[in-house]
Amino acid sequence: MSRIRIICRSPWIAHFNTGACNGCDIEVLTALTPLYDPERFGVKLAPSVRHADILVVTGPITRKAAERLKRLYEQMPRPRFVIAVGTCACSGGVFRGSYSVIGGADKVVPVDIYVPGCPPRPEAILDAILKLLEKIKLISVRR
Ligand code: SF4
Repeated sequence: MSRIRIICRSPWIAHFNTGACNGCDIEVLTALTPLYDPERFGVKLAPSVRHADILVVTGPITRKAAERLKRLYEQMPRPRFVIAVGTCACSGGVFRGSYSVIGGADKVVPVDIYVPGCPPRPEAILDAILKLLEKIKLISVRR
């Protein structure tokens, strides 16, 4: 059996709003500014999902956005990871049960890290990215 070693130490991030109120989006964008300096961890915003290692999802998953979310995820190169940011992306939040909402991001794509909060602070988002980096390292070591 061939052994594959995954090396993903400087992940690029793509961001998709599936119907958020923009509260979480503002926090994600703040987390990516020089004030929080995510580039010190090698993390930066990708120009397209086709170049991204991590997809950051914000907002409840509406019926309309579900198909787009799936398509974006499928366009990402492997290995690919997903972070659900905000209570809405984790579970549907206050919109759960609404006729147009199917729930959290994990109803459509596999989610690796959940960041609850309405909205979560930039520090929590950066912490989730670092935890995901640790998880990626463990995957790399096991393979
Ligand atoms: S978790 Fe809160 S801030 Fe984020 S999209 Fe939902 S309602 Fe808006």
